Amino acid sequence: MHQPVAFITNSTQQPESIVIVGGGTAGWMWNIPLTSRVGNGYVYSSQFCSPEEAETELRQHLNVSDETPARHLTMPVGRLQKHWHNNCVAIGLAQGFIEPLEATALMLVQYGIYQLSSRLGEPVTTISRSQYNKEMKRMFDGIRDYIVAHYYLNTRTDTPYWQACRHDIRVPANLSLLVNAWDGPGEFEEALDSIDEQLVYLTPSWYCILAGMGRFKSDAVNLPDPDTAAGIQQYLTSTVAKHFRGRLYPLS
Ligand SMILES: Cc1cc2nc3c(=O)[nH]c(=O)nc-3n(C[C@H](O)[C@H](O)[C@H](O)COP(=O)(O)OP(=O)(O)OC[C@H]3O[C@@H](n4cnc5c(N)ncnc54)[C@H](O)[C@@H]3O)c2cc1C
Repeated sequence: MHQPVAFITNSTQQPESIVIVGGGTAGWMWNIPLTSRVGNGYVYSSQFCSPEEAETELRQHLNVSDETPARHLTMPVGRLQKHWHNNCVAIGLAQGFIEPLEATALMLVQYGIYQLSSRLGEPVTTISRSQYNKEMKRMFDGIRDYIVAHYYLNTRTDTPYWQACRHDIRVPANLSLLVNAWDGPGEFEEALDSIDEQLVYLTPSWYCILAGMGRFKSDAVNLPDPDTAAGIQQYLTSTVAKHFRGRLYPLS
């Protein structure tokens, strides 16, 4: 089970408009600068790390003293089977929680409101409820697939946790289908098309995560000619300078 430990630290400067995420020994850490404080946390697996070990690791990572109080939280993850039952509709945390790695909670709130309001203009029937439930289930499960990809596609070999994420987790069927198509001789785009109606993260996101995690076949490297490569390099450098003040953060 994954659970977080969190610290609040002081804002020391004008907050940067960026959330920094990185890998820990048994999970991932976040750093969210706000105007009044900085939120820091470590979502760790209790199977691989005790709460005390996680707290110590995060303290060391942030260089905060023992006097700064830590908050150990529980994170019940999952979703309702029925988001709309009779005259009762769940929206937001009331309908479920997926871990915050992709910061999808507010989007789910907005999507739930949209899906509900678009069905209230006409008489509510069993069909409207069932369509709503089906759509919210698709959203939750599609987000889960993409989040699981972050763990499953990791390439770290330094801790048992990250190795277990590659070998010992239950891989959702759609994720498995996409990774097999990416790895194998099959057409990746065809695989995406075949589950198009279930996907929440669209084609560019899947290319980003698979390529971003460095998952390439050994014969797949097809380097551009030097002029094109120089152009790409220049574009990336200027984009980083523009949006991230010239700083790149390591992902692990
Ligand atoms: C620091 C931080 C950063 C975040 N960043 C992001 C982000 O970038 N993207 C994202 O998508 N999500 C983010 N989230 C998560 C997101 O804010 C929450 O998932 C979302 O606010 C949940 O909305 P909600 O309405 O379901 O619940 P809440 O916002 O918790 O609202 C529940 C309300 O019910 C009230 N309440 C509770 N019990 C009772 C009671 N018995 N009677 C009456 N009222 C009651 C509470 O006071 C509260 O006002 C972040 C959260 C935090 C803390």
